[in-house]
Amino acid sequence: MRLATYSPLPSGKPRPGLVIEGQRIIDVPAALGADADTNTMLGIIQAGAAMLERLRNLEKNPPASMAKLADVKLHAPIPRPAKNVFCVGWNYLEHFDEGARKLQDNRELPKWPVFFSKATTAVNGPFDPVPFEAKVSTSLDWEVELGMIIGTTGKNIGEGDAMRHVFGYTVINDVSWRDLQRRHGGQWHKGKSLDGTCPMGPWIVTADSIDPNNLRVTCRVNGVTKQDSNTKHLYFKLPRLIAELSAGMTLEAGDVISTGTPEGVGFARNPPEFLKPGDLLETEIEGIGVLRNPIA
Ligand code: MG
Repeated sequence: MRLATYSPLPSGKPRPGLVIEGQRIIDVPAALGADADTNTMLGIIQAGAAMLERLRNLEKNPPASMAKLADVKLHAPIPRPAKNVFCVGWNYLEHFDEGARKLQDNRELPKWPVFFSKATTAVNGPFDPVPFEAKVSTSLDWEVELGMIIGTTGKNIGEGDAMRHVFGYTVINDVSWRDLQRRHGGQWHKGKSLDGTCPMGPWIVTADSIDPNNLRVTCRVNGVTKQDSNTKHLYFKLPRLIAELSAGMTLEAGDVISTGTPEGVGFARNPPEFLKPGDLLETEIEGIGVLRNPIA
């Protein structure tokens, strides 16, 4: 199933929708009755397996009247996560190598994943502009990443149980202001958290509908491919990420984990390349969808 958060145009209130055959969208609160479980994507995720069953039935028996996808505005599937978006640094070997080459250090391969986070205010829609904060920074870079949404709250989750805690997957671009990322004492939070730097969507594909371990991930700037890899090259696999993050720290239903980017980012290129106003950033994951964000 594909679950989106959308607004009827021109200015309807955001609500969860069930995407049918990539063409139409069912208004979930209208179809199932508006309540705390159906009014928001977080409500749907927190409502658990019973809600998924109701949605599967809805998908099989769609209402006669559905909006066309082309006639609605899609938002980030979780427009305002309950906590910061968890992110993973250096999770494709080729990206680790290109960074080490560029920064001229001789890091050893990590034994543990690097975690950082993006502020909830960074979350951006799948087709909305990314603000260019010229007064703050200049080096705006791209990072296509598989986003993983937690469905079942848990703590100290074992790798063998980890995938049962996943609600679904989405596309994320971990857009990064590189000078800020480096400037602040090696802590990446600031350079990764400026407004609009977490485009997400265009929907969540539920975990029962996709194998996340063999998906092509690509990023294009103005139609030119910059990153082209596959989730099978993730260095720390998804169960390990969940196990490490949940060790002693509760992961909650609706938490978002961005799983790291492959090689081909702008700063590591020769010469370095950065985004500028007017550029079109396209972020795509096979089997999920594509984000198209202009740089404002
Ligand atoms: Mg990243």
